[in-house]
Amino acid sequence: MHEWALVDAVASAAETAAEQEKLKKVDAVVVVLGELQNVDRAAARRLFAELRKTKKKALHRARLEIRAEKAVFRCRACGKTFGLRDLNKLSHKESEAVHFLPEMAHVYTECPACASRDFEIARGRGIYVREIRGER
Ligand SMILES: [Zn+2]
Repeated sequence: MHEWALVDAVASAAETAAEQEKLKKVDAVVVVLGELQNVDRAAARRLFAELRKTKKKALHRARLEIRAEKAVFRCRACGKTFGLRDLNKLSHKESEAVHFLPEMAHVYTECPACASRDFEIARGRGIYVREIRGER
């Protein structure tokens, strides 16, 4: 229940933010979802619709909006940034492995500029709340 834990964390964060901003009614919770975070969006929305009922009343009619964030890798050797699509040597199976376990990118690929395997994942992991819209 990987989605459940993520969506519950989002709903809790939204609840806290709504309290801090003294919102009486939250219309939308906008989250950014990294490309490397394997989440079924339809399932996430359905879960949110369930989980919001367990939170404070302000959240009961909130809608979950999901914005995608492309993955960005940054080479530690030469500083070049590149995306998943630049890792074009990956087979379908390898690409799936990278999605599930981003650390595996190091095993399967290298920097397209200098061929170093020393790179980091700069963006595209995790899920976070970007914005909460509602009424005071
Ligand atoms: Zn490089």
